[in-house]
Amino acid sequence: MRLCSVELTNFRNYDHLQLVFPDGTHVLYGANAQGKTNLLEAIYLCTCARSHRTGRDEELVRHGSDFYRVSVRFLTDRNLEESVSLEYRPSSNRNGTPSRTICYNDLEVTRLSDMMGLFHAIIFAPEDLQIVKGGPGERRRFLNVLISRTDRSYFRDLQDFWRIIGQRNRLLKHIKSRGSLSAREETVRLCGNLTAFDQDGSELDIEEIAAPQSGAQLDVWDAQLASVSSSILKKRLDYTEKLSEYAALSLRHLTSSREQLDIQYRGFSGLDREMGRETIERLYLERLRRGREDDIARGSTSNGPHRDDLSLALNGVEARLFSSQGQQRSIVLSLKIAELMILTEIAGEKPILLLDDVMSELDSSRRSLLMEVIQGHQVFITCTDPAQIFPASSYAQGSAGSVYYYPVVNGTVGSGTNAPMG
Ligand code: ATP
Ligand code: MG
Repeated sequence: MRLCSVELTNFRNYDHLQLVFPDGTHVLYGANAQGKTNLLEAIYLCTCARSHRTGRDEELVRHGSDFYRVSVRFLTDRNLEESVSLEYRPSSNRNGTPSRTICYNDLEVTRLSDMMGLFHAIIFAPEDLQIVKGGPGERRRFLNVLISRTDRSYFRDLQDFWRIIGQRNRLLKHIKSRGSLSAREETVRLCGNLTAFDQDGSELDIEEIAAPQSGAQLDVWDAQLASVSSSILKKRLDYTEKLSEYAALSLRHLTSSREQLDIQYRGFSGLDREMGRETIERLYLERLRRGREDDIARGSTSNGPHRDDLSLALNGVEARLFSSQGQQRSIVLSLKIAELMILTEIAGEKPILLLDDVMSELDSSRRSLLMEVIQGHQVFITCTDPAQIFPASSYAQGSAGSVYYYPVVNGTVGSGTNAPMG
């Protein structure tokens, strides 16, 4: 895949920008806070409609503007010229509700899931360190984005999951606000005894008859939650196995087999990667039923795909807790290379690579692994000093093809030249 052009309007510190790119390596250089990362962020946004830095679209709108627009034109490895564009308005109508319009080849894409897997770019950024150092949410997001980009039904399942769990949690809070379900069930028992009185026309407390409905309604949400969660979990288990294999391979390569990485999916107890979807569904349903009283007490669902984690163990111990900064960087690099391998394998397209200020943080062995991996891809690199990125290395003038340098100054990008200016 090759990015042919990019156009930004009111995006971050860019008023309007239009750039055309030939094949090769593109180095965006300049002082701090000029807009280098913003440009990579805009390109990455066209892969999955989510920035690598924030989940809040309104932050991306240029201050003082009321919308942003980003569009990319690209050439697939099958030689088809395609485009993706995104427009976002924080308040599009009188109600002030935000709107997002996504187009593929100038036709509107109504479902967000249909945007996944159209344009492939992978970003290597300083924020990636959070995959190892951060909380479980960072690792779940990494896995969710990876799977969604190669499997649209996974993304739709995730959307369904959030809708269903939202409903279940609302019901749990509702039950909690009226006393625990066991107290309710006690009422149900009493209600049963009162049936005759009811039939005789005596009045039943409306609160009391709500109880059996709540229990039955919870059964309905549990069944739906177990069904959609089992699809999500099955895919997460499968992808984790692939991720573990490829990342371990990269890390062995990087450390001359000194470091061993093992990645495991950590879900509810009893969940096993050999399990089929139906078994997972049955087990999770049991888990939901057993945890129901606790869930009512909390007013939320305590087990499920929204709580799971990836365990990253380096040489048998938890990397988040025991690995050095350098080891954590190596793990992140291995994970990103694994992401690249999986995406290439499943999508059958070589993704565009966006390297945001990462070269300066890598030592020579990590840098040369990255250089090996990026061969044959179109690459965009940001840095403050291009001379540090490409010292007279074999890569710079060799198999990477042409290298173009673009000065970035205060939301403007100069035209590409074969050597950095000044
Ligand atoms: P560094 O070398 O420090 O990483 P950079 O060139 O990558 O710098 P960016 O993160 O791309 O910097 O851009 C930062 C600039 O963009 C800052 O000046 C910031 O104030 C500006 N900026 C960020 N969001 C917006 C926005 N919504 N509207 C206007 N300007 C913004
Ligand atoms: Mg930056």
